Amino acid sequence: HLRGKTAIVTGSNSGIGLGIARELARAGADVVLNSFTDREEDHALAQEIADAHGVSARYIAADLSDAAAARGLVERAGRCDILVNNAGIQHVAPIDDFPAEKWDAIIAINLSSAFHTTAAALPMMRAAGWGRVINIASAHGLTASPYKSAYVAAKHGIVGFSKVTALETAREPITCNAVCPGYVLTPLVEAQIPDQMKAHGMDRETVIREVMLERQPSKEFATTEQLGGTCVFLCSDAAAQITGTTISVDGGWTAL
Ligand code: NAD
Repeated sequence: HLRGKTAIVTGSNSGIGLGIARELARAGADVVLNSFTDREEDHALAQEIADAHGVSARYIAADLSDAAAARGLVERAGRCDILVNNAGIQHVAPIDDFPAEKWDAIIAINLSSAFHTTAAALPMMRAAGWGRVINIASAHGLTASPYKSAYVAAKHGIVGFSKVTALETAREPITCNAVCPGYVLTPLVEAQIPDQMKAHGMDRETVIREVMLERQPSKEFATTEQLGGTCVFLCSDAAAQITGTTISVDGGWTAL
């Protein structure tokens, strides 16, 4: 049902973003993939999606820690009916030990980049007469965990920014929502396992069961396909009146 729409998914050469791009393409959307690298395999991913789903797919490199690059991504895409702000990084450390440059990078990539891409995309959505902004927040946009100060601050921030975007577009056929995943086994989560093992003095399996999935009552990771399916739903007519809210895909985490 998304034929003729163009979706930009930030941070989509891996993990959740790639899963979302695949599901949007499966639903017929043309997709723009993005990350900060510019490797042959990045462009090959776009080709693979184009071939698999008969859509047009491009990879555009842009480092979203840079405001002008974030706006430039949308401008270079030339069209944006669906904007999925997904790029994100993590760093785990106590506040008094948290490197200031990590704080700045997390706020820039996980929060400020969404402001810049949204600012560039809204005029395109208004010109096309339809739009969807989907911000990939986190269960950490609604609750907190120790040692993740910058991440939790950025994710709470993007939930607030999603509400403002929804209010500013409320009288138009544009919606904005935040999707809040619990734990999804992606490279970002994989990379946290050694730190968590060290912080808790536990082995891999124990960290997964007792630390990561401790607050996920389903005791299962969510999948990138499920996150993609949630985005496809938010682009459907059934979701036209869903705006300014959060959708948790967290196996019950935030019900606790
Ligand atoms: P990932 O590391 O697999 O993907 C992150 C993506 O962002 C990658 O494509 C990476 O290249 C890109 N990226 C990083 N820095 C960038 C930059 N400066 N410019 C452009 N792109 C950049 O991680 P993921 O788990 O797929 O995470 C995707 C999003 O989902 C993040 O916002 C993350 O916070 C959120 N999230 C993930 C989980 C989880 O359990 N995996 C849970 C909740 C929320």
